[in-house]
Amino acid sequence: MALGEFELIARWFQRPMRRALLGPGDDCALLAPTPGRHWAVSTDMLVAGRHFFADTDPRRLGHKALAVNLSDLAACGAQPVAFTLGLALPAVDEAWLDAFSQGLHRLADAHDCELVGGDTTAGPLTISITVFGEFPPGQALRRDGARPGDTLWVSGRLGDAGLALALLQGRALADAETLAAVREALEQPQPRVALGLALRGLAHAAIDVSDGLAGDLPHLLERSGVDAEIDVDALPCSPALAAQPPERRRRLQLGAGDDYELLFTAPAMHDAAVQAAAAGAGTEVHAIGRILPRAGPQPQLRLRDAAGRPVELRVRGHDHFA
Ligand code: ADP
Ligand code: MG
Repeated sequence: MALGEFELIARWFQRPMRRALLGPGDDCALLAPTPGRHWAVSTDMLVAGRHFFADTDPRRLGHKALAVNLSDLAACGAQPVAFTLGLALPAVDEAWLDAFSQGLHRLADAHDCELVGGDTTAGPLTISITVFGEFPPGQALRRDGARPGDTLWVSGRLGDAGLALALLQGRALADAETLAAVREALEQPQPRVALGLALRGLAHAAIDVSDGLAGDLPHLLERSGVDAEIDVDALPCSPALAAQPPERRRRLQLGAGDDYELLFTAPAMHDAAVQAAAAGAGTEVHAIGRILPRAGPQPQLRLRDAAGRPVELRVRGHDHFA
């Protein structure tokens, strides 16, 4: 017999609540805010065929759907608390729901972030998650705090997810081992929550890189009223990406999406403190450039190489409507 909507919710998405006063099953989830904390709230939607291949491993998809949302909390320096799940499913596929919910709950448990409600409907496969996080008043990391002289930092590595997409779409070639390595970056990104928390009180500004460095950095520059200079030779690079032709490597590092790394600025006098905070959070970070005073009406991103020579490369970030 086919499963109904409420059996589906009860079987895969209803779990004992640890923190919420009331979870899935009533008209609203009920939550008590931690006294003296403010909320950070963010929504990210994943649509089959647009954000992921419909046949993506469902366990990885469950992970990624929450990971991209936790990445936004990380970029604000917020501690994850709870999330809601909006799910449109073409059909009730029990094996798919088993794997999807396992991937989702596993990452949620790792961050002590509770699924407190949602909505479930039949329709083209779509996942929409809203996350709720907390931070001490005045301590959220924002896009508008970068100052000239700040060092520009990025966590992890850039371009692996973009390389995986290029390989899966047949736009680039590599051996099976390379594909497996970069596929992990595309399908199971690790949200930099611990790093975001460690950067509170240290970073001036932060954003997560979801649409490519060249796409996301201008948002931070715009909000902060500054320009930036990047040393393209300092951009972090995996062994898989290093094996690609130099121009493709740079294009992927600067312009490919889906990395979910943190891009942030901090006063140069805090360089050592940033390294120490990142080490404490177990995340590698790389100084990739610096913040400059605004020179013209539009934010400018200047690229140069390790020798200081200007690099001419037109790259744009990802834009769904461009
Ligand atoms: P309403 O019609 O009052 O909006 P629904 O019938 O849509 O409520 O949902 C019933 C309950 O199940 C609600 O508490 C809702 O939060 C929860 N719920 C629905 N879908 C999900 C889901 N995918 N994950 C978690 N909880 C869900
Ligand atoms: Mg209702």
